[in-house]
Amino acid sequence: MEPSHPIQIGISACLLGDQVRYDGGHKRLPFATDELSRHFNFVKVCPEQAIGMGVPRPTIRLVGAPDDPRLQGSKEGPELDVTDQMQVFASDMAGKLGHISGYILCAKSPSCGMERVPVVSETGQGLGKVGVGIYARKLMEALPLLPVEENGRLNDLPLRENFVLRVVAYSRWQALQADGLTVSALQEFHRRHKFLLLAHNQSIYRELGPLVADTVANNLDDNAGEYIRRFMDALKKPANTKNHRNVLMHIQGFFKEHLEKDDRAQLTKVIEDYSDELLPLLVPLEMLAMFLKKYQVDYLLDQYYFEPYPRDLKLRVGL
Ligand code: SF4
Repeated sequence: MEPSHPIQIGISACLLGDQVRYDGGHKRLPFATDELSRHFNFVKVCPEQAIGMGVPRPTIRLVGAPDDPRLQGSKEGPELDVTDQMQVFASDMAGKLGHISGYILCAKSPSCGMERVPVVSETGQGLGKVGVGIYARKLMEALPLLPVEENGRLNDLPLRENFVLRVVAYSRWQALQADGLTVSALQEFHRRHKFLLLAHNQSIYRELGPLVADTVANNLDDNAGEYIRRFMDALKKPANTKNHRNVLMHIQGFFKEHLEKDDRAQLTKVIEDYSDELLPLLVPLEMLAMFLKKYQVDYLLDQYYFEPYPRDLKLRVGL
């Protein structure tokens, strides 16, 4: 079930420091170039350059109906309309990117923006930040399970952590598919993600249990499709403190027979201090990991909750 390494991520080329913006500049994202690059391989794409617009190039913008806008020159208007070229390119790329496990898009771009891209009416009147970049929209429609984030949002620690967590979890699913999915592999995948799912969305976790239990060879493809759709949905929202607390307490229950009274009391206090935001998540997690190592509780040993992504990305340090 482990992903084939290294994990591949799509990214807007300007975020890697490529000088491909309309003015020959870039938007280098240090988190990608300095941190993620140690663990992930990037597939970089500049859609505007790829459709032959060149660098430097005229600026373009979204024009018309916010849910189906045209991509036109800011100065030239309809005389420069690259909507069709961009849509064809995006569909073509999406067809080639089935192997990637996540995508980082450049915010606000009429091509790459994931959300809140400015749109203007045909008469040039501002309609607000209500659009999605033409390339980004096609990509997200064609690959609905793919974890996608924007550079600006990745400055937010919980969103950053959650994006990487989703990318790595999705890559494990892709590895499962590549190995040839079986009923027992699906059961094992679900079991090892139990606490991660619980921390993100308890109700989806509860729905997924019966779905997995009802899966047999005959309905495997259908159930697996439904499973991963809901699984990725569950992970979409970062886990909150309350859910983490519940998970930590739940895990603590596995050590009931092992822990001395003092250790148990100390662990409870650390979990409560985390819950009251006096300690970061790492403290109860490290304590549990120490007990886990000492008492070797089988059911917990391979839970991804303890190590959802490479530790040296330090994504849990500030949570
Ligand atoms: Fe190219 Fe997208 Fe970056 Fe614009 S935002 S320069 S289209 S990669």
